Amino acid sequence: MYWNNLNDNLKAQYGCKVYKLALSSGCSCPNRDGTKGTRGCIFCDGAGAFAESGSISAQIAQAKARVFAKAGADAKYIAYFQSFTNTYAPINVLEPLFLEAIAPQEIAVLSIATRPDCLGADILALLERLNRVKPVWVELGLQTIHPATAAYLRRSYDLPVFDEAVKQLKAIGVTVIVHQILGLPGESPEQMVQTARYIGASGADGIKLHLLHVLRGTDLAEDYLAGKFRTLELDEYIAALEQCVRVLPPRVVIHRLTGDGAKRDLLAPLWSGDKKRVLNAIHGAFLRDDMVQGSAL
Ligand code: SF4
Repeated sequence: MYWNNLNDNLKAQYGCKVYKLALSSGCSCPNRDGTKGTRGCIFCDGAGAFAESGSISAQIAQAKARVFAKAGADAKYIAYFQSFTNTYAPINVLEPLFLEAIAPQEIAVLSIATRPDCLGADILALLERLNRVKPVWVELGLQTIHPATAAYLRRSYDLPVFDEAVKQLKAIGVTVIVHQILGLPGESPEQMVQTARYIGASGADGIKLHLLHVLRGTDLAEDYLAGKFRTLELDEYIAALEQCVRVLPPRVVIHRLTGDGAKRDLLAPLWSGDKKRVLNAIHGAFLRDDMVQGSAL
């Protein structure tokens, strides 16, 4: 069994466990503010993942305090701007935020989640400057390469936009991480594998593989409750996941094998709420099947 996982990479590089600190940039999203759409991606609840509030320094202090008991005094951290589109603001707003985030010595990496259509020349120049100070990771939510699914998701950008963004980010030396969702409505396991294969060949350095969660209050939940699609069972998810990992080049770092659903709002699949059980099942299956990343390339 072999898969190139993030924790091992970070430990090898920094000699210790590296913790993520979820921070808020205050950015909105063009898919919500009317620029590209108003209702967002169909699965997005608009709440974003948990992040601290206040100044960036205060957010870092609060987020560190939450993990301090297990992290200890010598830990390293990733300043992680996760929710919404964190390059969707003018440079004079973003630059001080990001500089403040990477200033503390214990911050090892700046990680920025955004959309590929929010990476103009000025943003790229900023990311290049920041990357000279601390490593910059940029996360792109591709989710699928299939146009019909992307339209259903209301992703609101086409595949060539993603291709160009990866090319430009790689040209400035930034680490690129791409999100893929498995179990999207109407997609076969073969289509999921095609997306994974595409991401692996795109030049991306890392991937986050997620299970499709249906969250209460989203438009996706309405379709789910109307019986328009069903979510994956655990064994189906693991089977699809294995096939996807087998087509990823061994150099691609796997940041996630499943997502972190907001348990409180989770409508389906309910089995995904027990993350420990899911990860144990995935690791057990990988071992049983001698799953080797890249073996089906
Ligand atoms: S791009 Fe991200 S923040 Fe914006 S609507 Fe889609 S999932 Fe939500």
